[in-house]
Amino acid sequence: MPKHPARKNGEALRALLRLPPGERVELAGYDARATPGAPGGRRAGLADTARTGRRLARLQERLWAAGRAGDHRRVLLVLQGMDTSGKGGTVKHVIGRLNPAGCRITAFGVPTEEERRHDFLWRVRRALPEAGEIGVFDRSHYEDVLIARVRHLARPAEIGSRYGLINDFERSLAEDGVTLVKCFLHLSPEEQGRRLLRRLDRPDKRWKFDPADLDGRARWSAHQEAHELALTRCSAPYAPWYLVPADRKWYRDWAIGRLLLEHLRELDPRYPEPGFDVAECRLRLLERM
Ligand code: AMP
Ligand code: MG
Repeated sequence: MPKHPARKNGEALRALLRLPPGERVELAGYDARATPGAPGGRRAGLADTARTGRRLARLQERLWAAGRAGDHRRVLLVLQGMDTSGKGGTVKHVIGRLNPAGCRITAFGVPTEEERRHDFLWRVRRALPEAGEIGVFDRSHYEDVLIARVRHLARPAEIGSRYGLINDFERSLAEDGVTLVKCFLHLSPEEQGRRLLRRLDRPDKRWKFDPADLDGRARWSAHQEAHELALTRCSAPYAPWYLVPADRKWYRDWAIGRLLLEHLRELDPRYPEPGFDVAECRLRLLERM
């Protein structure tokens, strides 16, 4: 298998998966079974994901430690994608390799009555990661321009205004030390069909099935269009979208792990210098041993 040029410097998956800000996104042009940048097939991918997980965990600890000492930076992974695209699977298989104490994971469902009384970003602001944390959104504020658009949950003019509000919001996050990693899990309708069938056929998967998913599937092209609009309008240099082909679970996990790793490496968090006299503390300890 030819080695992908993107693997050479090890930091280029971002460049490979990033949707270029300002360009119109057409999802039909992307193969959901593709494996851009992968180190090989499934076996090599799984092995590399395990390696990436260990590296991520080490960097996460440094980010956390720096956060304790006043470094305000944090990471926010935003996961969007159709039902069964693997948002929950990513949390389990990628984020599951990190220290849960430093993670803040939020799944956004249909807004509660209280949430509906506030503007659409209210519940999102409350779920943001604190200094040193890695925040994960399983669905996000984007639902308010995705499902809201497909199901006409708000007036068109209101939905139209949200793209700009999202861009302003994300810019202010970026300026405030949040590294945004926005991943769109790109799934084919054929693969979704297979996954939904599995959910119905396997008793241990049935709890994940929601008959409403069939409505979403019936409006596949409306969903795709809503995604194309959101991906086009809300991809900025400070908060680009990454399109992650998601028909192959091993690739999805590998790619999102790598994307996180590349961002954390760039952040390069440092263990803080101790705020006490190490030599003196050592002496005091040894005196009583
Ligand atoms: P799941 O992620 O499978 O647990 O499903 C969550 C459901 O909540 C999905 O059907 C989403 O479309 C829906 N949802 C999430 N956010 C919103 C929102 N802001 N407005 C309406 N529905 C939403
Ligand atoms: Mg669901």
